[in-house]
Amino acid sequence: MTRARRLAITLSDLRNAADSLPDAVVLLDEAWRVRWFNRAAEALLGLRRGHDRGVVLSDHLHGSELAAWLRAGARVPLHDIPAPGRPGDHLDVSIQPFGRRQRMLLARDISPLTRLEQIRRDFVANVSHELRTPLTVIHGYLELIDPEDVPALASVLGEMRAQSKRMGQIVEDLLTLSRLETQEHVIDERVLMAALLATLRKEAEALSQGRHRITLEVTADCDLLGSPRDLHSALSNLVSNAVRYTPSGGSITIRWQRTPEGAMYAVSDTGYGIPANHLTRLTERFYRVSSSRSRETGGTGLGLSIVKHVLNLHQARLSVESTPGQGSTFACHFGAERLLAPENP
Ligand code: ADP
Repeated sequence: MTRARRLAITLSDLRNAADSLPDAVVLLDEAWRVRWFNRAAEALLGLRRGHDRGVVLSDHLHGSELAAWLRAGARVPLHDIPAPGRPGDHLDVSIQPFGRRQRMLLARDISPLTRLEQIRRDFVANVSHELRTPLTVIHGYLELIDPEDVPALASVLGEMRAQSKRMGQIVEDLLTLSRLETQEHVIDERVLMAALLATLRKEAEALSQGRHRITLEVTADCDLLGSPRDLHSALSNLVSNAVRYTPSGGSITIRWQRTPEGAMYAVSDTGYGIPANHLTRLTERFYRVSSSRSRETGGTGLGLSIVKHVLNLHQARLSVESTPGQGSTFACHFGAERLLAPENP
């Protein structure tokens, strides 16, 4: 067999192998023009053999999320976007540079995963919704019974009331999470920070009942753009955690200040703190460092998941710093695009 023939066979084998891949592969030149693509790229990206070689990929995908990402330089991998070639399907897309200023676009069909994720979300939302009515009925009847009429059961009754209230709170938190998960955007309203911070401080004082020293330090005079209800819920969750995980006599500081990227809302406490190995998992549902402490203080284990979702919807992020035995700081970092100059009085 001649060398040329052997090379031709190897090339054809490589093409066949690439065509059998379930993921789309597109080779792009230095000007982002399509040099070559495999069969999956035809199905997932709508590229056509014999037609689309040499076209600028973002022109071909014009109007899609993928095109906008390519035009912006495709710097970070793209997660869960609609497949331009197959409506209803979802892709993860990344770019790998290779050779001399060439690039390889990889697109993976993640539709089976997103469908499973949807089933899970619907299941949690449905279960929570179905539990709501029976719980309300049980709670209502428990409230009707006067412990003085049944002194022998007074302590049992108290425990039943507390537990049914707790279950009600878990169900409400799960429904909030379901709503936040399915929501893609928040309403953009002015969130009056001065008023919100004053409310948060009052909430902290009410929860603490004089057991902690509570300080408010405000150096930024800007408002936020977003959902007042969701932001209140997220920011107050951090305050409530600080109170609940700080022993009597400790201090809690609520801050609102400017940062190079925008502004930061932070709650610092001098409480129990969190060992470093737990920090990355705190925003998972029902993740607790100490279940008994969380239960004792009335926690549902869902607070920080709610915080994370609310912040994601506002393109903001949560950071946590903590030293066991010394305290923690939970901070929400907002970008400049979410800030508004205060309104004139
Ligand atoms: P929970 O309802 O249990 O408080 P969260 O989602 O709000 O649930 O918090 C998750 C866990 O993170 C808590 O159970 C607790 O162990 C830990 N945690 C949260 N905030 C603090 C804090 N300020 N200090 C110490 N631990 C905290």
